Amino acid sequence: MLNPFRHRPPTCPECRSPARMLYGNCSYCSTQIHIPLAYFRWIWALVVTVLVAAGIPTYTEQHAGTWFLSLACTSLPLRIIAGYLIPPWFERGPVKLRLPFVGWYLTHFVFLFTYWTFLGWSHFALGASHRDIAELNAILSSPIGWINPAFFIVPSRSFADVCGILLGNSFFFAVATWFLYRGARFIMRRNRVTRINLSEQVGDSNEDD
Ligand SMILES: [Zn+2]
Repeated sequence: MLNPFRHRPPTCPECRSPARMLYGNCSYCSTQIHIPLAYFRWIWALVVTVLVAAGIPTYTEQHAGTWFLSLACTSLPLRIIAGYLIPPWFERGPVKLRLPFVGWYLTHFVFLFTYWTFLGWSHFALGASHRDIAELNAILSSPIGWINPAFFIVPSRSFADVCGILLGNSFFFAVATWFLYRGARFIMRRNRVTRINLSEQVGDSNEDD
């Protein structure tokens, strides 16, 4: 009987055995294997599609932040289920170690949350005016609070609402810095390739002399 939750081990591209990965090597033939990045992209695309489908009918204007936070929390069990339904596949070659976008995103959220907690308490301790607090909330609500006022931080919002709003804003910052980082890396790599080509040309001309 077909059981979609039965965990099938992926086959090794070298020895064709249903293999396990041990420290980046096939458990049978010790060939270097890795799970390609495309697999993780497909899995997250599926998770996001399900979240969008679930998010549209459940949206509430009063607790937009909590709504977003609960959707984000649902993504973790969804990711695990998707991983079982669509088993990974292996490709030959070593693992390319790099920080996944999810990690990058969560780092931004932790930073923004710490910033909010620290500034909130320091405003409280210093006896800040209503205007100061409103200014702080306006900064922390950017940019999604300006796109949709339901995501603007006001004193009547619950803790879960504020966490959801900060999580939503972290996404914008994470995407922006991710593209900056990837852009900078692309330019640096292109410059290195140009330098190698130039030094090869210099080497060639020296040989001619
Ligand atoms: Zn193998």
